[in-house]
Amino acid sequence: MKTLDKSRVNYAESQAFLAGGVSSSLRSAMKPVPLFAAAGSGPRISDVDGNEYIDYLLGYGPLLLGHSNPAITDSIHAALKCGTTFGLQHTGEFELARRLTEALPCAEQVVLSGSGTEAVMLALRLARAYNGKRKIVRFHGHYHGWADSIFTSFPSSDMRQFGSVLDSDNQIFPGTEGQSQQALEDILLLPWNDSAALEETLRRYGHEIAAVISEPVMCNSGCILPKPGYLELMRKLTEELDIVMILDEVITGFRLSLGGAHGKFGLKPDLVTIGKALGGGIAISAVAGRKELMELVGNGTVSHLGTLNGNCIATSAALATISELSKAGGAVYEQLEQTAVRLVEGIRRLLVKHGIAGIINQAGPVFHMMFTDELKVEDFASFNKRDAARYTEFAAGLLEEGVLVRSNGLWYVSTAHGDQEIDETLSAMDRALNTLRGG
Ligand code: PMP
Repeated sequence: MKTLDKSRVNYAESQAFLAGGVSSSLRSAMKPVPLFAAAGSGPRISDVDGNEYIDYLLGYGPLLLGHSNPAITDSIHAALKCGTTFGLQHTGEFELARRLTEALPCAEQVVLSGSGTEAVMLALRLARAYNGKRKIVRFHGHYHGWADSIFTSFPSSDMRQFGSVLDSDNQIFPGTEGQSQQALEDILLLPWNDSAALEETLRRYGHEIAAVISEPVMCNSGCILPKPGYLELMRKLTEELDIVMILDEVITGFRLSLGGAHGKFGLKPDLVTIGKALGGGIAISAVAGRKELMELVGNGTVSHLGTLNGNCIATSAALATISELSKAGGAVYEQLEQTAVRLVEGIRRLLVKHGIAGIINQAGPVFHMMFTDELKVEDFASFNKRDAARYTEFAAGLLEEGVLVRSNGLWYVSTAHGDQEIDETLSAMDRALNTLRGG
């Protein structure tokens, strides 16, 4: 058995001073104890007890280039020589904005912010200011950050209290105690990947709907790809009905391609939100999109504030990330795809070998592994039929075998993961599945 004594002691001690002992509610779900990290390097992370793991949590997604990527850390060190933040403009901001407009097909202009949550808040505000309407369509099982105006219907398996859904009167519940119920009044919650429900709702309430916001791939609930034509229908209807189409690419942005999921799928939403991989582990996010909308920030119609927005540490990390991802004409993405496919195919073989029913949905270097008797997981309803408790137990088993994964089943792969890590991971999983079957 691995010793996790120091993590346990640190967790107990931190609970005295740090509310809940963690800095983001999801982290308390980790079994057998929220780990305390010591250091990360490439695809590996070590904890305070001296255990080493192959890391597929990857900071919940930002570490597309692995831990301590030298290009990113060097650029941060170089930036630090001049300071950290100025409250004045610096050239890194417009350079980054320019690179983003080159990379993201829908981006004519860019606004920089601090987190995915903030980027979504701004995108919703821009939409409402643009067309003067109020309602926002969002989908079951998608996650768009924890702001009062949008936090509902979040999959609950690795959170204590969340997971609100519509009740029988179609009332939308807040995602947490303390959240304003009124803030959700303008939300219309729909099943995703259901073209008929989308078309019916948009045609019926389009005169009241400011925006539709959607993850382009439902990464937060099963890594489910859009059905053919679904996002295209969303684009067509929103254009026709003067509704702003927002793709929340906080996970998929840079992870699926340098042009995000919308670049990969050949779509042009009005706005996208990106975060996570953009900063390679440093807090930064962006809203990008059509000039007509973005100009509302430019001309002062829409306020966008933030003390640390565009600080030079964050912009230098983002610029280094873009340079790395642009190398050799995007060869990085072929490598990421190959690594993820090799891993996923290996896991599928192991599930068959152990006689365990499971599904893995993959979108490039992100995939969701589920224990389920379903033949396909294509929507939120089938996603909810998975055995989440069994997976959480399995994640703890993998940790024991030296592989760190998120307890809800979502795996991230980085450019630092190579054949050796995949081989080690599959051997570790073989052992963990043995224990699971026996248990
Ligand atoms: N949108 C999506 C699609 C996300 O997955 C997340 C975070 N997991 C967010 C928004 C919120 O981002 P942040 O945690 O940086 O606020």
